Amino acid sequence: MKIITAVKGMQDMLPGDAEKWKFVETICKNNAQLHGFSEIRTPVVESTELFLRGVGETTDVVQKEMYTFEDRGARSITLRPEMTAGAVRAAIEHGLIRDSLPVKVFYIASCYRAEKPQAGRLREFHQFGVEMFGTSAPQADADVISIAREVIDDLGIDNVSLELNSIGCKECRSEYHVKLREYFRANEDRLCETCKSRLERNPMRILDCKSPVCQGICEHAPLMIDSICPDCREHFEGVKSCLDAMDIEYSINPKIVRGLDYYTRTVFEFVSKDIGAQSTVCGGGRYDGLFEEVGGPKMPSLGFAMGLERILLTMEAQGIEFPPHDPPLLYLAPVGKAATALCAKIAREIRMSGVTAEYDMVGRSVKAQMKYADKIGVLYTVVIGDDEIAAGTAKLKNMEDGEAEEIQIDAIADRVCEIGIGGSFGRLTELLEGFSAMGNLAEIAGAEENPLDLTGLLDFEDKE
Ligand code: ATP
Ligand code: MG
Repeated sequence: MKIITAVKGMQDMLPGDAEKWKFVETICKNNAQLHGFSEIRTPVVESTELFLRGVGETTDVVQKEMYTFEDRGARSITLRPEMTAGAVRAAIEHGLIRDSLPVKVFYIASCYRAEKPQAGRLREFHQFGVEMFGTSAPQADADVISIAREVIDDLGIDNVSLELNSIGCKECRSEYHVKLREYFRANEDRLCETCKSRLERNPMRILDCKSPVCQGICEHAPLMIDSICPDCREHFEGVKSCLDAMDIEYSINPKIVRGLDYYTRTVFEFVSKDIGAQSTVCGGGRYDGLFEEVGGPKMPSLGFAMGLERILLTMEAQGIEFPPHDPPLLYLAPVGKAATALCAKIAREIRMSGVTAEYDMVGRSVKAQMKYADKIGVLYTVVIGDDEIAAGTAKLKNMEDGEAEEIQIDAIADRVCEIGIGGSFGRLTELLEGFSAMGNLAEIAGAEENPLDLTGLLDFEDKE
């Protein structure tokens, strides 16, 4: 039969990769939380209307890249191509913006765009993003930018520069549009078809076109930054001095316009020098008109979205090491049914204390089990067979130095938990943080009044 493969442009995240993703996501979440942002999760599909209005009808995303479906003939729905529109919709729908402002949310989410798949450009990809609703103060722009900077730095990534621009407000932009139209009209016949249609409606979109011919034409186009009004200029100066105060380096790139129609004032990109053409790892800016565009109140806001595939590509290009995956602390190798049941019981007890343990899931020989334990990189092993059960003791072997200690079988769980708690095991550390907050740490560490109850275990074999 024909083998079924993943849909073009969509990637599996396999074990091993998933650990890397988890690491990146943890750094993203930590930094968002340090700035007081809370997580938001919205549906993968939204009404198509939301993106037409919330991304903009003259954007590449809406004109070429959306996965749009008829919902059983009832209405048009679209797989989210980005998260901002959904977050804004949710904030309006649930009255989040009625509470004290600003509202600060972050997300890590899959997004969908029907693009030509290539390195750093997929049809399903993932974004970490933050949104701050309800402030026009320049320090908000700098604060949002600093989150992206901190994430990139915390991941150990070098060579990613911040490029900044201001594209003004509705008022100063209309004057600029006149200049821009005039400039592009002189080259109209060379523009691509999409850009021709943009000329009247939104000439700034042409600056963001990917076609090399259009890009060439844009080379000498008038710059927005030269036309911004005094208020926008003052805002931009405010953003820059706040970035300066935070020691965040940037360069001004007057060519940045960003992909959405409703960006105003500050726009920015973080650009990686190590991943080729798809080099923008993060893009964002202000969208002071977006809430009104989707039917909400006036609500100056801003945010960014970071492409996590491109972040991971950069990390790989720079040879950045990911924290190792924690192996299980103990592997119990049973021989026979009674021993299997006993190992099940011990493993369960260890796990209930927050320490990792595995035992044989296949029914293999001791030799094969040891090979497996070695492969998964386990730190301790113990073999339990009839002899060990009869003696009530077994050998707990340290796989790193090969040393073995004779141990009472009913003390294995306590001993292993003691080692686990003394060491720094990922899952355990997380758990301990929770417990120590509850003042329960001493109780777990000295879990002595929990002797193993072997009653009934040996009956198991009899029943077979
Ligand atoms: P580009 O110019 O590369 O097409 P964009 O302007 O369409 O980017 P945004 O809509 O601003 O991108 O999305 C924010 C970030 O999400 C981008 O900077 C990028 O890192 C990532 N991104 C966007 N589209 C894709 C995609 N198809 N595959 C992977 N990552 C993507
Ligand atoms: Mg794009």
